[in-house]
Parts: sequence; C-alpha cells; structure tokens
Amino acid sequence: MARPTKALISQSALCHNYQVAQELAPNSNNLAVVKANAYGHGAVVIASILEPLVPAFGVACIEEALELRAGGISKPILLLEGIFSNDEVEIAVTNNFWIMVDNSQQADWVLNANISQPVNVWLKVDTGMHRLGVQPKLVNDIYLALKASVNVCEEIVLATHFSSADDHESSETKNQIKIFNETKTLLQKSLADSEIIPCSLSNSAGLLACPEARLDWNRVGFMLYGNSPLTKDNEASKRLKPVMTLMSAIISIREIAAGQSVGYNQTWTATRTTKIATVAIGYGDGYPRGAKSGTPTLINGQIAPLAGRVSMDMLTIDVTDIKDVDIGDDVFLWGPELPVNEIAKYSDTIGYEALTRMPKRTPSILV
Ligand code: PLP
Repeated sequence: MARPTKALISQSALCHNYQVAQELAPNSNNLAVVKANAYGHGAVVIASILEPLVPAFGVACIEEALELRAGGISKPILLLEGIFSNDEVEIAVTNNFWIMVDNSQQADWVLNANISQPVNVWLKVDTGMHRLGVQPKLVNDIYLALKASVNVCEEIVLATHFSSADDHESSETKNQIKIFNETKTLLQKSLADSEIIPCSLSNSAGLLACPEARLDWNRVGFMLYGNSPLTKDNEASKRLKPVMTLMSAIISIREIAAGQSVGYNQTWTATRTTKIATVAIGYGDGYPRGAKSGTPTLINGQIAPLAGRVSMDMLTIDVTDIKDVDIGDDVFLWGPELPVNEIAKYSDTIGYEALTRMPKRTPSILV
C-alpha cells in the first residue's frame, strides 16, 4: 500500500474558477498564470485542463515556458518577468512566447536581436509597485522604438502590476490606475488616433475587486486555484472553490499522560490524558514547518489541532476529542473545508506561499 500523502487536484473546481473570472470580465482576455508549477498544482496538468478555455498562459521565466511546450501545451505563453539574456529573444520567437518588456535593457535585447520574424511584446509601466516596469517618463520613447522595429509584432500591450489590489483599505490601486491612464494618454498623443493601445492591469485581486481594472487582458493566477487573495472577501471571491485538497492518514495512535510532551524540542505538553495521532505528512511534503500547535486539521468531519512541531515526514495531532478515530483514517490538511489561507496564517505565511512550496514528493492526483 502506498504512503497516503497526496494532493488531490479538482478539475471541476479549476474550470469553475476560470468561469468566475470569465463572468467578471467577459470582454477581457483572461490569461491563466501557471508560474511556480501552477502555484504548486502541477503546471502541465493545470495548463492541459485550461488550454481549451484560455487565450494564453503566463509564467515567470523561459524554463517554465519550455516545460509547458515539452508537456504539449501550444497556446501563447507570456514571460511575465521578461527575458534574462539576449539569446532568449530567439527562443521566444521560435516557441511563440510573448515577452513582457520590464526595463530598457530588455527592450534593447528585443530591438537588437537577429530574428527572422517579429516577437509579441508587452510593455510594463511602473505605476507604483517599484519592482519591475519602465518609469512613466520613459514609456513613450521605449514604446515608439518597439513599435517602429521589424522585430516586434504590430500590437504592443501596455501593462502594469498592482501592489495592493488585495487590500480593500488601500487607495493605492486607484493611484496606480490614475498614473497608468495618464501615461497611456500621453502615449496616445504620439500615435495616430486610430491606433489602439491594448491594456492589461489586473491580477486576481484587481479582477475580483476592481471593475475599472478589467481591461483588454487580465493576468489571473491565485484565484484560479480557488482561493481568495482579498483581505476581505466579496461576492465574487466567495464563489471560488479550492482546487487542491492536501491529505494524508493516521499511521500511529498513542495515549500520553498530563505533563508529557510531543515532538522535537518538546514544544507542546499535554495538560490532561491525551490521545496523540501521528500523520504521515511533514514539511518534506509541503506542509509548513512553522505551523503552530493548534493549527486545525480535519478528521472524520471533526477539527483536530496540531500538537508539537511539524517534522520532515510526520506531524502529530491531538485527537482526544475526536470520535471513532483509528489508524488509517484520512486526515485533511487543507482544501474546501479548511482554506489554505487560514492554515497559512498559523505559520505566519500566506496561501500563495504554502501552495507554491508543494514538492515533487507529494503526488498530485487528478480528481
Ligand atoms: N501578473 C504578474 C506580472 C504577476 O507577477 C503575477 C503574480 O505574481 C500575476 C499577474 C498573477 O497574480 P495573482 O496570482 O495574484 O493573480
């Protein structure tokens, strides 16, 4: 019998979540972001399911894009961080990868490349994230140089990335949209009136919470996996269904006396006679080591709290109050009834990070 630790991946939840994005932005092209192994869900598996539905994919780098091509994915793939050397321009052209130009060096690499056909380019404007993107005052020159180059396809999408669209109390998204619109207006003055500049603003949070940011292209990641990026849920985010269920099973049960402790460094001590169940999942399987005692797990429909440190291959839970508990029982670590965002809080992280850390050792099972 195989080790019971696995990540179940729900195809229907994934398609449902994409449908939510489509309903929010029916007039946009909603590109699916599948970087970091599709946020830990398996890039090729996720992209294969989404391929008939989406216009394109987004990844962080050319290696991730090539992995998708090797896995049989043929839709265009946008390189969200752009390229890391000039030879990547040719690889992009050959493989129908689109390049997000994030700085003037990347623009120069595209302009000076010796390529036989044009490459599809997006230009990112830094409207306030101050991480990547061209400063607004440089946009006109770079856009016009790209536009005039035979190396670049006719249509250049103007894009930006939000820093705080998840935070309903922040006014930064409005500031960023304002700067973006001013930059675009200035650029439009340098172009013929008939020239349309396609635009892309939203990530998941922008799409979910900011109707005015749903433009020609949205770049949708986290919400596809069924979890909300928003600090405060709204109607749309409440419709999302978690795609991954992380589960394992009890492999040992023991009773300990009050005063006895559990696990490495004795960080948890029983205050009563306690039934401890050992579960075959640890931080080597993607469960956060930082999860504190008290983090909920689910057994037979009942919540059982973590007791003691998470080990590499196992963790221990207090099942004293759980009815009918036995070796072999399924234990759910996160999923539809135990949102990964909530579990992540117990280890001072976020759902994005918890999911993205899923290692190869944890098999993904499509359900
Ligand atoms: N667009 C860009 C440029 C990104 O870097 C990311 C992810 O970090 C996304 C879109 C998708 O963001 P999210 O997963 O929050 O939808």
